Amino acid sequence: MKKKLILVLNCGSSSVKFSVIDPVLEITYLDGILDIINSKISLMIKNLVQNTTLFKKFKQINSYNELIELIFTTLFCKYKNYLDNIVGIGHRVVHGGPFLKKSMIVNSDVLLKIQRSSIFAPLHNPFHVTAIKVALQQMLMLQHKNVVVFDTSFHHTIPKKAFLYAIPYKFYKDHFIRRYGAHGINHLYVLKKSSLILKRPINRLNIISCHLGSGSSITAIVNGQSVDTSMGFTPLEGLVMGTRCGDIDPCIIFYMVNELNIPVNEVQKILTKESGVLGISSITSDFRELEEKYDTHKLAKLSINIFCYRVSKYISGYSSLMEGRLDAVIFTGGIGENSSFIRQKIIHKLSLLNLFIDTKKNKTSHKKNIFINKIGSIPILVISANENYIIAQETYNLVV
Ligand code: ADP
Repeated sequence: MKKKLILVLNCGSSSVKFSVIDPVLEITYLDGILDIINSKISLMIKNLVQNTTLFKKFKQINSYNELIELIFTTLFCKYKNYLDNIVGIGHRVVHGGPFLKKSMIVNSDVLLKIQRSSIFAPLHNPFHVTAIKVALQQMLMLQHKNVVVFDTSFHHTIPKKAFLYAIPYKFYKDHFIRRYGAHGINHLYVLKKSSLILKRPINRLNIISCHLGSGSSITAIVNGQSVDTSMGFTPLEGLVMGTRCGDIDPCIIFYMVNELNIPVNEVQKILTKESGVLGISSITSDFRELEEKYDTHKLAKLSINIFCYRVSKYISGYSSLMEGRLDAVIFTGGIGENSSFIRQKIIHKLSLLNLFIDTKKNKTSHKKNIFINKIGSIPILVISANENYIIAQETYNLVV
């Protein structure tokens, strides 16, 4: 029987990740990444069935269009057997803005709305639009449909009291300024996984999902729905991140501009690219290195402590939204999955919530999807992030 596979595209400014997936069996056949570093381009595709890797370098590419075309050309030339089984293409889109609330098949109206939502995600949405246009052209001859899956969709259930900022209402009504959140695709993925692990239906699950990576966010989920999340109008709000500041007093910005005479563009750069644990430690945004230096470098230690403090504070705050029952706290993302040290530090402060970590289980969490709590504690789970399966499943459900 012919397989029904989905090509998943995750297009950023400095890399394009793509996978060929069987969404029903949750099998990944091909996993690829095209990296653009200092205008040097490299393409790597892993065939996970045959355990082979293709690696190519390219000298000069003139446009983002050509980059995306390169992926299709390589897939057509080298992996035609997989491409013949593809029934749809799923695109990860970081921001759906106020109007695109759920996954949908791409048409000209949808494309226009994604383009207009670029004001909310200027570093991502313009690249998504270009990639979708190329994919539409490439797939025209095969008659495949393109589907967009948004990182903001999962958070559209957040009530007004949680998504509205306390600024004049007209800024929400006329200019759509509100909390949108991010990382929604992975928060949904870990919710689905935890439902299987905890053997509890999604619509009866209350969890706090901590996605800790170079960008970090935490989401309160009640009865399977997002009711609050730490990222806001943009992914700058909330937790301390690798290079992003997270929550700060907005007056700091006025002070930097008006008193310190720093141009506003520069302030934006400072808060997004030079802050977070990088800014505090002044050595790196890489948590592995910060952990190594924890005992020897004062500011590395301080940056990790501030990061963990903020996560604990959010977990505490969100526990009050759980309507009396917290089914699990979940750790996911590069740090959440790999750093037993940071998980320990975060949970250590939360005994009042009946959260206790089992030191031994915590250290063996390289076996993913496991419990790391002590007996008697509220479950604490480590679940590997996987946006691709959700994108493939949503696409499959719309095209098949
Ligand atoms: P992104 O947000 O780019 O998807 P990831 O979820 O891949 O990021 O997370 C990247 C972060 O995870 C980096 O800061 C990296 O240092 C951190 N990380 C990866 N492995 C470990 C580890 N073993 N211990 C601590 N931090 C880790």
